[in-house]
Amino acid sequence: MPPRRIGVLGLQGAAVEHRDAVERLGHVAVDVRRPAHLAGIEGLIIPGGESTTISMLLESSGLFDPVAGLFAEGMAGFGTCAGMILMSARILDGRDDQRCFGVIDLAVRRNAFGRQSESFEADLEIPALAESELGSEPFRAVFIRAPYVEAVGDDVEVLARVRGPGGDPHPVLCRSGDHLVAAFHPELTPDLRLHRLWLG
Ligand code: GLN
Repeated sequence: MPPRRIGVLGLQGAAVEHRDAVERLGHVAVDVRRPAHLAGIEGLIIPGGESTTISMLLESSGLFDPVAGLFAEGMAGFGTCAGMILMSARILDGRDDQRCFGVIDLAVRRNAFGRQSESFEADLEIPALAESELGSEPFRAVFIRAPYVEAVGDDVEVLARVRGPGGDPHPVLCRSGDHLVAAFHPELTPDLRLHRLWLG
């Protein structure tokens, strides 16, 4: 694959780890903090952090509308944790002034995995990795005050699930077109397969 120019939203949260992952895969990672940084990017990663803060900073930096515009033109997005919240269509338990891009038809509830599991790790079975010849080993997923997917639109593919507070398998990795969103933090483990899947 020729090197791609990939933006990583750097306003707050785990951006450095995502830039490292992009670079380890031989692509160019651009630290996006101002509208001018969006020039020429082929995709945007929105990292984990605090979605309310990132939403506020997207407004104050003047990035919200140009990013929304690029998404409308078909730019691919990869959102992890807070990034998943920001890419979703609907936020439950958000702040009233919190905005989202609505590029993947999900309703997500913030911080709703329950107190006992504010942070946890799980080994995920992700058949889509094997289908893309990225191996069939489970993916170690780190969840930190993760968003809880409450509703999934018809055009959204659920790629992995974990047991939620009620014990039922629950979507934590979803794809729609070129967009990928994870309730967990793939950038905090050395496993690059999800970055590879999205870049592919
Ligand atoms: N709880 C955070 C939020 O609502 C997300 C946590 C994370 O990104 N690790 O934005």
